[in-house]
Amino acid sequence: MTGRLDGIGMTSQRTRLRMVERLREQGIRDEAVLAVMAELPRHIFVDEALASRAYEDISLPLGFGQTISSPHTVARMTELARGGGRLETVLEVGTGCGYQTAVLAKLVRKVYSMERLAALLNRARRHLREVRATNVHLRHGDGMLGMPHLAPFDAIVTTAAAQRVPRQLVEQLRPAGRLVMPVVTARGQQLTVIERTADGYSERRMDQVKFVPLLPGVE
Ligand code: SAH
Repeated sequence: MTGRLDGIGMTSQRTRLRMVERLREQGIRDEAVLAVMAELPRHIFVDEALASRAYEDISLPLGFGQTISSPHTVARMTELARGGGRLETVLEVGTGCGYQTAVLAKLVRKVYSMERLAALLNRARRHLREVRATNVHLRHGDGMLGMPHLAPFDAIVTTAAAQRVPRQLVEQLRPAGRLVMPVVTARGQQLTVIERTADGYSERRMDQVKFVPLLPGVE
């Protein structure tokens, strides 16, 4: 018997390896990220009706008007957060289905992830249990505020777009730590990397992206 985790056909290991080959062709270089994505069953994080599309390079509907980031976006954000090095603690804002959370969990010691929609958070909790991501701490709350009592973090990954970089999040980075997030600019949304330097912060604008907005409060 093949279990739901192993997958068959369009959700099989072979399909997953093809996805990883595509990510490589699209310029993802971090082998540790590619290795995790080759193993982790992405199909269990999406609606059963969409499972056969889980390994295509598209974003998928998540319910509640939210979207699951495409494999390329997940790989890119994780690669940028790691910056080629090892991370101990990471804060994620926007748990969604929990797939990005799970990728991070396989690469770092501890992931803290915040989601403002309780219904999504409960579903993510089930998915993360299924893939045995035990080093994840989920929190129902407004991620714009971060988790100051647990700061500083080696990296912060925000998977919803903001009009400007939330100051409170930047302040929760350790020295040389990185915040990776989509920010709305004159050229549309751009993936932005803010790094905490000795005398302040540096900011780099990367790829054009399309994320749902970062919203205040909880539901
Ligand atoms: N990485 C997720 C992305 C989901 S979309 C995935 O691939 O599934 C972005 C998520 O951010 C949504 O679930 C949305 O509810 C959440 N979000 C938006 N604003 C937020 C905030 N201020 N705090 C926490 N989560 C937020």
